Amino acid sequence: MSKVTQRYDNLAAAQNWKPGSADTSAMDIPKIFGDNTLTLDKLKERLPKSAWKDLKKTIDEGEELNINVADAVALAMKDWATEKGATHFTHWFQPLTGSTAEKHDSFITPNQGGGAMASFSGKDLIQGEPDASSFPSGGLRATFEARGYTAWDPTSPAFLVENQNGTYLSIPTAFASWKGEALDHKTPLLRSVEALNKAAMDALQLFNVQSKRVSSTVGCEQEYFLIDQEFFYRRPDLLTSGRTLVGAKPPRGQELDDHYFGSIPERVLSFMLDAEKELYKLGIPVKTRHNEVAPSQYEIAPIFELSNVAADHQQLTMMILERVARKYGLECLMHEKPFDGMNGSGKHLNWSLSTAEGDNLLEPGDNPHDNMQFLFFLTSVLLAVYRHQDLLRVSVAHAGNDHRLGANEAPPAIISAFIGDQLNDVIEQLIAGGAKSSKQGGLLGLGTPVLPNLPKHAGDRNRTSPFAFTGNKFEFRALGSSQSPSFPIVVLNTIVAEAIEDMTADLKKAMKSKSIEKSLGNVLKTRLKECQDIIFNGDGYSDDWQKEAGKRGLLNLKTTPDALPTLNSKENVSLFKKYKVLNKREVESRQEIWAEQYITTRTIEVDTIESIAKTMIYPAAVRYIGELGKAVERAEASGLDSQGSRSMLEKVNNGLNRLGSALDNLAATQADLSYKGVLDHAKKVESKVLPVMTEIRDAVDFLERYVADDYWPLPVYREMLFIK
Ligand code: ADP
Ligand code: MG
Repeated sequence: MSKVTQRYDNLAAAQNWKPGSADTSAMDIPKIFGDNTLTLDKLKERLPKSAWKDLKKTIDEGEELNINVADAVALAMKDWATEKGATHFTHWFQPLTGSTAEKHDSFITPNQGGGAMASFSGKDLIQGEPDASSFPSGGLRATFEARGYTAWDPTSPAFLVENQNGTYLSIPTAFASWKGEALDHKTPLLRSVEALNKAAMDALQLFNVQSKRVSSTVGCEQEYFLIDQEFFYRRPDLLTSGRTLVGAKPPRGQELDDHYFGSIPERVLSFMLDAEKELYKLGIPVKTRHNEVAPSQYEIAPIFELSNVAADHQQLTMMILERVARKYGLECLMHEKPFDGMNGSGKHLNWSLSTAEGDNLLEPGDNPHDNMQFLFFLTSVLLAVYRHQDLLRVSVAHAGNDHRLGANEAPPAIISAFIGDQLNDVIEQLIAGGAKSSKQGGLLGLGTPVLPNLPKHAGDRNRTSPFAFTGNKFEFRALGSSQSPSFPIVVLNTIVAEAIEDMTADLKKAMKSKSIEKSLGNVLKTRLKECQDIIFNGDGYSDDWQKEAGKRGLLNLKTTPDALPTLNSKENVSLFKKYKVLNKREVESRQEIWAEQYITTRTIEVDTIESIAKTMIYPAAVRYIGELGKAVERAEASGLDSQGSRSMLEKVNNGLNRLGSALDNLAATQADLSYKGVLDHAKKVESKVLPVMTEIRDAVDFLERYVADDYWPLPVYREMLFIK
């Protein structure tokens, strides 16, 4: 007889997990912070004065880097890395798959005498040439033109990756085709940072602000699940697609709300401390950790940084979480919806504008109605979001996120902006002709003298808004947990650059005849009227909002296949072209790659659920039916009432029939699927294949409630979610 109780062995292993060789020594944050990154300070110490000066010019002012400087930097980098035990280096880049890529080269070059020496030149540093033919290019590169180049990004520090058997130097790079077209996420991000800087610097002149540079700042809150690896490896669906494709809802889910902000389980806390240690060594300023809403769901957030560095650090954070989890016998699930019926995971992109001198341009101060400069930038952002809802929506569109957006736990697919009471009031005053006052927060008044009387914020929070102003920054909450934050940042930088530029032009024109105060009042009034419909401070989950948003003419692009076709509209292509962020081919290639990714993701899921259903669930149910059949026979042979077993037999048999017909339906649907082009293909997969997957799942989940537990081949929700 086959061993059907394998599951119980896994359970026992998960329960008896003991820490192995994991490093549990206490951490000294100031001492280890940045230990594994080549910070600018360290580079400065190691470089000749003149080389350092030239490098700074490249970093601060975007001047071209000359090869002698590159040679000097390469030497300093190699010395630093080899002193710390590195033997290899890699150009680390972010292809459009959404993850990161690297190809390792050894520092060691054999010499003629039969020995070997370490070598690494400026050329090795500045440019690499990985064989690019296997990365998605969306038509940017024919397969015979395999050439792709990686180019060093001096604005993001190089870092070391440690493994118990060795260490390598990782150099952040951009990745482009032989024709110079961006095949990655970093290149457009750097371009959009430039566009935003230019527009904002121009605007600041009108307010008489001297600054060297304006950049966007970013801090990403990352949600994730942790489950025991024993379960992970027993679930083909988690292994291949990152989410459970079948699984009945457990008797206890997240209803009790007792996990959120609860005390962190011991093993998980050990993992977090270890992961944070690794992140600190990489110079990533992680700051907060807590339990999230669903059982076994957690969150980590850093202190914000310049957007380009923050985007690199976000990718590294995901990588470190996944790696370190395994040391603790855990698997870190980054998928947006690993468990049906539980909250999914998102990534909140906190975004603001800052001068090089450290002034946050979205800081309202105590009296926002009086803060002209703030109102100018706030209005620019609102205008940008109103005009480009489609782009913001596309920037968060991918298969995993479709399970989240619009469900009652994540923002709706409609893009709107929340600004809170106080600012809403100021904006209404501005539209009515002029802002005279700002509502104040007052004191919290907890009603007992032992507690301090806390000052209250002037606006409450709103958890349902996809784009919320939270004090002195905007929080774009529609991102999926697994995605790279880069393209959403690119979109924000670019659309805000455009809005700032338009408002600067308005203002310059008005100031020809009037004072800045008067002119700005008029500009704000006109522009706020134009974009007022984007502001929504109510409940984003309500049906009323769906209707109201429709009346306002806001877009409601429900799924990835609905959103993707908007990416290459005439307006979007010309916007990206105008700000030199993406050319037409680069836009179109992204659309194609993302549509293909959608189709591939779904295809993998369909193949996986089909094989689970046929090769794991069906056999388990058939075995159980055999036993039930015997029980019925025996009861009847002994002249006993077989009604109980008979009714169970009927249920399981019904489940099997449902499963059988769902599988037939899948085969028929796949055979009939016809489409024109990749966008239509994606839409057909969503509208035709996805519903059949649900049908299969329902049948399997029905069976899970009846088939004998010791026959059930898959770890179930209660085991995966509650054994920590
Ligand atoms: P909240 O309580 O609103 O969630 P937190 O202080 O916890 O605010 O910050 C959440 C995230 O927002 C953190 O990653 C933080 O670094 C980031 N953040 C704060 N200020 C800014 C800013 N000016 N620009 C970008 N991100 C910011
Ligand atoms: Mg937050």
